[in-house]
Amino acid sequence: MVEEDEENPYGDRWDYGYPFGASSEELMDENACPNCQGGNIKLILDGKGLDGEYLSVVMCSDCGFMFDPETKREIDSDELLGIKNEIEMRKLEEEQIMQEMRLAKNQDIETLKKEIEKNSRNKWARYFLSKEMIKKGLNPLKEAQAQLMKVIEIDDKLYAPYFQLGKLFYEMGCLTDAEKKFREALKRNPDSAIINEYLSRCLMRANPSEMQEIQNMQAEDVFRKLEIYLRSFIERKLREKYGNKWEGHVPRDHIAKWEDKKKRDKEINDEELPIFAYADFPHLREIIIKRDNWREVFEPYFKDKEVVDSKLKELESIRLIIAHHKRQLQEDEKMRIKLYYCDFQKRMKEYKQNQNPEELIEGEK
Ligand SMILES: [Zn+2]
Repeated sequence: MVEEDEENPYGDRWDYGYPFGASSEELMDENACPNCQGGNIKLILDGKGLDGEYLSVVMCSDCGFMFDPETKREIDSDELLGIKNEIEMRKLEEEQIMQEMRLAKNQDIETLKKEIEKNSRNKWARYFLSKEMIKKGLNPLKEAQAQLMKVIEIDDKLYAPYFQLGKLFYEMGCLTDAEKKFREALKRNPDSAIINEYLSRCLMRANPSEMQEIQNMQAEDVFRKLEIYLRSFIERKLREKYGNKWEGHVPRDHIAKWEDKKKRDKEINDEELPIFAYADFPHLREIIIKRDNWREVFEPYFKDKEVVDSKLKELESIRLIIAHHKRQLQEDEKMRIKLYYCDFQKRMKEYKQNQNPEELIEGEK
């Protein structure tokens, strides 16, 4: 078991999203200036520091006060420069690792085997060797599995080998083993859409009569299901209403962010999900309450805009606790997840009647 989940340097190397799942707008909502109490706060710097921790600095447009939005501590210009440098260094380091990865990526099986002979700790060569084997269906798959285990032995901080192992087990129908591996992958990359998606597929296949099982399920898993359902519901409704122009009804910087993550999955996992699967959880709320969408699409389902807004905000803060293992969920939080799950299910029901969960996840081809 990994104890310090938040200190995984590899955790979301591949994910340029906000590591705490919070969007910058959200950070600013909660913040008044500690100096003048003004609410005109702008994000001026953010990114990951050398240990993978998320760093950000905001500034008050009214009085020019700069501070850390989490602790409200003042940051002077020297420190700002230091943080900027650290973020730059981290980016370079990430780029270097991506370089190493790309070097191993497009090699054939023979070349990769030679690389491993030369350096048995070449984790990327082992990783891509296993992927080539899986792709070619080379028997026994046991060897691919052994390579992935070896990668984990060399570097236990990478999520990718856990994810691949999970997929292997999933394809073979070993759902319990697959689930374990996906959970390990998720610990190392908590915001990954593709891992969450696979884990949910496992859970849904394992529990077809989900409504009865909800009470016995882990609240965290109920949350995961809710997120997947909500996301596919929103996508479906947008497409029904706007057809191919649906993207015009989602904030443009959201879509750019989703595309970035999609590209990254393609590069690392050779697999990508439909674009909407990459929507961050807070984006879903923003899309629902966006004026045109609310009026044209979502009002008939959710009825009261303020209620759905505040429920989703609550879920957003619970989600941060789950994804980053900040602490154990409290009983009332667990209960709320299950209640809200049932509530949202009821509201989306009309839509869900003609869908089964597998189809929901497959999405548009
Ligand atoms: Zn101020």
